[in-house]
Amino acid sequence: MTVTLDRPHTTTAAATPHTTDTPHTTTDTTADRPELPAVTGTELRVPLVTGEWTRYVNLDYAASAPALREVAEHVEQVLPYYASVHRGAGYASQVCTGLLERARETVGAFVGARADDVVIFTRNTTDALNLLASSVPGSVLCLDIEHHANLLPWRGGPHRALRAADTVERTLEDLAVALAATPTALLAITGASNVTGEVLPVERVVAIAHAAGARVALDAAQLAPHRRVDLAATGVDYLALSGHKLYAPYGAGVLVGRRDWLDAAPPHLAGGGAVRAVTETGTEWAAAPHRHEGGTPNVLGAAALAQACRALAPVLAGAAAAHERALLGRLEAGLASVPGVEVLRIWPDSPDRIAVLSFVVTDRPAGYVAAYLSAEHGIGLRDGKFCAHPLLERLCPGGDALRASIGLGTTAEDVDRLVAALRTLVTTGASWTYAPVDGRWAPTPDPRELDPLGVGLPGGPGAGCGTTAA
Ligand code: PLP
Repeated sequence: MTVTLDRPHTTTAAATPHTTDTPHTTTDTTADRPELPAVTGTELRVPLVTGEWTRYVNLDYAASAPALREVAEHVEQVLPYYASVHRGAGYASQVCTGLLERARETVGAFVGARADDVVIFTRNTTDALNLLASSVPGSVLCLDIEHHANLLPWRGGPHRALRAADTVERTLEDLAVALAATPTALLAITGASNVTGEVLPVERVVAIAHAAGARVALDAAQLAPHRRVDLAATGVDYLALSGHKLYAPYGAGVLVGRRDWLDAAPPHLAGGGAVRAVTETGTEWAAAPHRHEGGTPNVLGAAALAQACRALAPVLAGAAAAHERALLGRLEAGLASVPGVEVLRIWPDSPDRIAVLSFVVTDRPAGYVAAYLSAEHGIGLRDGKFCAHPLLERLCPGGDALRASIGLGTTAEDVDRLVAALRTLVTTGASWTYAPVDGRWAPTPDPRELDPLGVGLPGGPGAGCGTTAA
């Protein structure tokens, strides 16, 4: 669908009040929630196409969450000591080696790792699941609703993607039947859907898989920032997560889990650090985790991730969950009141939902709505297929959706601004015109300064995840 919407350019402010035209004043919206760790960026002010400035509303935590303030401070504290790890006798090298190995323990404890589990630092969840894929000694079963990170790595070996049924109960029954029918080494399953926020009952999934002799890998990229995950208590065998979704955007993720497969697997990255000894022709590989961490480790990323775990552990199950549930309820009620907005669901009987939801707006391409929300209201959320193409094809055939996701820095005002902006769109329309530019919807013209850091604008469109302005 190609739409050039809506009205000619006017400089009329959109329905939501934008308070000032001053670019860099601050509003600390976390000050009223002292029980929650503060996040960076809540004071960011952004330009609108109308020429005004407004406080940025970040409803895109599920893509990448802002750093916790204490994570950013910890990294600042570590930087003077930054040095190579595992290789130097120098004082700073020794400090950094201790930091990395301590981070391993902290992250392991955060996810309830068993004493003999391995914690391997990776770049992110995608990297972690690719590593696991090279370790599985047999066939893998997953659901077809997964993020591509938990779908595509398995395609390199024997695997099946089971169609998720329309209720959790039937999906569990189908999983049991599929596991009984074909010997399966690993059931790889999402902890929380990155599209609908819906969760599966992890203990029941584990019981079903273990009864059939299969291990369970949990893609916890979305679940871990919202709910406590405990490997030992749930029996989950492997877990993958990304630091950048867990308020530690410094380039580290982890794979945590049972040692035997990981010790037997080919090294994930062959090179220095992954070996015990090398001769001209032979290599004696180290055991996991070092076996899979060839090259210089990302010690800052690991330290940041560990600091995020320390900050989140005390609040995840209590204050953070309560905060997100309240805002999710507010968002759902708000969206239900806007004509033409439909929220997407896979499983109406999901036992829990994290504060992530996707929706469509009748007759408006998702990319167009996202461009409007950004350009006229300073609201950032995600549009497209969310790297879950098979699921999106089921939920909105041929189309894209919008996704709003809530985190520690989100406020009721943020949610209300989204709902008000959507209501303005469907009742009176946009104040600006929009058209596809380089495959994405954009305001035309776009008078905003898009290079506030002065690094230059990209020469072409970046890689996306199947978003097309059509
Ligand atoms: N799994 C889920 C459920 C996700 O939402 C994502 C990212 O959005 C990933 C895996 C991949 O995470 P990363 O891009 O950090 O590897």
